Amino acid sequence: MTTRITHFIAGESWKAPTERTAPVYDPATGVAGKAVDLASKAVVDHAVSVASEAFKEWRDVSLTKRIQILFSFRELLNSRKGVLAEIITSEHGKVLSDALGEITRGQEVVEFACGLGHLLKGGFSEQVSAGVDVHSVRQPLGVVGIISPFNFPAMVPMWFFPIALAAGNTVILKPSEKDPSAANFIAALLKEAGLPDGVFNVVHGDKEAVDALLENPTVKSISFVGSTPIAQYIYEKGTAHKKRVQALGGAKNHMLVLRCMAISVVLAVEPIGDELVRRIAEKMPQLRTGDGRRGCDMGPLVTGAHRDKVASYVDAGVAAGASLVVDGRNPVVDGEPGGFWLGPTLFDNVKTDMSIYTDEIFGPVLSIVRVKSYEEGVALINAHEYGNGTAIFTNDGGAARRFQNEIEVGMIGINVPIPVPVAYYSFGGWKSSLFGDSHAHGTEGIHFFTRGKVVTSRWLDPSHGGINLGFPTQN
Ligand code: NAD
Repeated sequence: MTTRITHFIAGESWKAPTERTAPVYDPATGVAGKAVDLASKAVVDHAVSVASEAFKEWRDVSLTKRIQILFSFRELLNSRKGVLAEIITSEHGKVLSDALGEITRGQEVVEFACGLGHLLKGGFSEQVSAGVDVHSVRQPLGVVGIISPFNFPAMVPMWFFPIALAAGNTVILKPSEKDPSAANFIAALLKEAGLPDGVFNVVHGDKEAVDALLENPTVKSISFVGSTPIAQYIYEKGTAHKKRVQALGGAKNHMLVLRCMAISVVLAVEPIGDELVRRIAEKMPQLRTGDGRRGCDMGPLVTGAHRDKVASYVDAGVAAGASLVVDGRNPVVDGEPGGFWLGPTLFDNVKTDMSIYTDEIFGPVLSIVRVKSYEEGVALINAHEYGNGTAIFTNDGGAARRFQNEIEVGMIGINVPIPVPVAYYSFGGWKSSLFGDSHAHGTEGIHFFTRGKVVTSRWLDPSHGGINLGFPTQN
């Protein structure tokens, strides 16, 4: 029997009478045991009107109360993260420890948002003119949309909604249709934490649902994370519909080794290349690929189509003349034969015009590019279309300092391979890795989910005894 995954609107599971559906696979078995509803424009518009109604009250719920609800959510999430991790593994495929890790990183943003009382404080200037004071406040936008990718079904929504909710917005989350259940689990947990119905809604779907969100004038902002072509589309269409948009796109994270975020390219500064390739090639076969519930190091890919796409890049790398050092196309796995398997793969002597270098592969394929100098490595990174994350491995502090200064990438690791910033800093890339002005969470996240207002006020001293409609004068 196929389990139906429904929308979550107005605090409950919401079934539309006629709906298209998409299969949801367990990638470790290849079995599609679930089907997710794909929303029509009418369903999205209904969810938006529910969220818009809820906004009228939610924006006036005290900041203290909103934050107390987030605190309760944080506690519930903490006690149930094992269940959520199992849901993620059963639809995404990543191993349980990775699923737990993404929940923990998302939870950091919940914890950050619990401090919003301090961070939402405005400024105040007394007596800017005679009897005149000025103060600033930041207010919520209204209904905000979040559209998330398959690879982090819990963490990426959590980059946004805790701040959006604490600031007084109401939310429509459109998660990836490949692993939709984490979103419903989170919605139910928020309700249990005391969030009023309609404040957080989940609408499942594909392009039709996304377009409906982008076109609906009541939706004031879109926070998107996914591939670059779709990020650009979301940015252009969303801003054309007068929305505030932050659209985080793809990546090709480089690591420069002198002595993303999985890393997908290693730039080996000679003469270190041979030794580095030998050591990585030794390590890779020690990684156990298999069912994420069996204590393996690496799980399957999310769908059969995605597995085949990644494998086709391996074929293309071989055809282009790169040296295939470790071939993951027929891995030995601890899992069912029907799973979407592809083992760790290593290419050496990759050239910058090969598709395995230029394109985001989004699979366990590592490319080694040999470079002669630090300068050549930096030039390559800066010339790449993407600018999400990068890392340098060195014992030379001067080189590291120079690197973080001159590299054109949004997030830098120094002897840290995956430089995902903590929640009170902002996450985001440069160039084709982000469209829009605001990165996720941290101060930029608070600014994204609020609008500034400045109030100039004049109260006469009680001794004056009457109203004065004249313009204040300087004395
Ligand atoms: P995707 O772009 O295919 O999908 C992302 C979202 O957009 C999903 O909710 C999907 O339903 C929707 N979507 C897909 N096609 C659409 C279309 N034609 N029109 C409108 N909406 C559409 O991305 P994905 O495959 O789910 O996720 C992997 C991608 O996300 C990779 O490129 C990865 O680099 C990127 N990603 C980036 C970051 C970052 O921090 N920059 C983080 C995670 C993932």
